[in-house]
Amino acid sequence: MPISFETARSLILEHVPILGTERVMLLAAGERILAEEIAAPCDLPHCDVSAMDGYAVHAADCSGAASLRVTGFIAAGSRPTPVVTSGCAVKIMTGAPLPAGADAVVPVEETEEQDGRVRIPAEVTRHQHIRFRGEDVKTGDVAIPAGTLIGPPEINMLASLGEMIVPVYRRARVGIVSTGDELVEPGTPLEPGQIVNSNAFSLAAAVQACGAEPVLLGIARDDCDSHRRLFRAGLACDALITSAGVSAGDRDLVREVLNELGVEQRFWKVAMKPGGPTAFGVKGAVPVFSLPGNPVSTMVTFEGLVRPALLRMMGHRRVIRPLFKAILQEEVRKGEGKTYFLRVRVTVREGRYLVGTAGDQRTSTLRTMVRADGLAVIPAEASFLPAGSEVDLVLLGEDAVMREPPAAPLEPLVARRSSCP
Ligand code: AMP
Ligand code: MG
Repeated sequence: MPISFETARSLILEHVPILGTERVMLLAAGERILAEEIAAPCDLPHCDVSAMDGYAVHAADCSGAASLRVTGFIAAGSRPTPVVTSGCAVKIMTGAPLPAGADAVVPVEETEEQDGRVRIPAEVTRHQHIRFRGEDVKTGDVAIPAGTLIGPPEINMLASLGEMIVPVYRRARVGIVSTGDELVEPGTPLEPGQIVNSNAFSLAAAVQACGAEPVLLGIARDDCDSHRRLFRAGLACDALITSAGVSAGDRDLVREVLNELGVEQRFWKVAMKPGGPTAFGVKGAVPVFSLPGNPVSTMVTFEGLVRPALLRMMGHRRVIRPLFKAILQEEVRKGEGKTYFLRVRVTVREGRYLVGTAGDQRTSTLRTMVRADGLAVIPAEASFLPAGSEVDLVLLGEDAVMREPPAAPLEPLVARRSSCP
């Protein structure tokens, strides 16, 4: 019996290990997950500095419109040798260290300097326009908690704290094996009946897009020896993805050979479309994802089942993409019992997502996937949703909703019962 998509995903997430950690140079840490909290080894800022270009003053000297003698100048980067004495001011630039004796900075825009004296406005508040030592981060503070996805702000913080070597979770090395006698590598002239091994490339791209490292192991031919050889190499990686050969055909050897190699199958067949024949197993700490061969099925099952697993292995906490509510622009009819992932184009009108078909929904039609901005999730129990119904939407690309709506729907958004595998 097929299990539900949600059960399949939960089982996978329960079974994948979290990989070990390593230390990498700061610039290699982007998009990785911080493995240990970063306790600040110093204060930020590390001394009191001016927040404005202006004059460092003693606030008590400035009651009433004061005129102060300018006794020095402190540029950013210089040491604060001048001292502010009573009745005097020191010109100071943003980020420069505050001189002794000063407790406020008056912005240059509010002053007038002439003949070595500066006129100060009536109101100067103690501590104004000063960034105090440690006011951002104090020594010992948790500057970045463990588990944080490292982006430009975290890189900035790490650099500011002098943390040039960063503890992160390892990237998963993911073996990719295509199976099938019909496959040839891209660029080879096709004989009748041959098919390009495009899945290996799209899987590699998808693996890279989640920050993992693809290991392209080649094509296993439809015999057990060939499968065995490449699967063994795949099982030496952190995870193995196989493509095709997982249905019930005579030449579908993937599950049989995996079983022989000691991979314990956790499930086979998921009540989802595309992606029904998907299998999942584990050998020790190595998860094995056996994805169906139709390119759209391969991509959708990767998106829904493999991507969250790889992210979890690499220490991510948010591994499932958020679901957004969207309004169907066309009716949907489908067979009951399977969760459908419809390839849709997404537009935004008055702050709401609208979804319409991206084209022919058969799993062999690659072009619809190329056109799609997202996947509309139609629940297993639904058989008919009228236009205007609310559905869950997974956005696939960051620029997804910026595209123009199609002038007219490309195809009716009908996932025919007859096309269920
Ligand atoms: P199978 O599950 O082995 O019957 O494969 C199902 C279908 O998926 C095949 O008929 C091919 O059209 C397609 N297919 C299988 N492997 C690949 C691949 N590596 N790249 C692109 N298409 C594939
Ligand atoms: Mg095959």
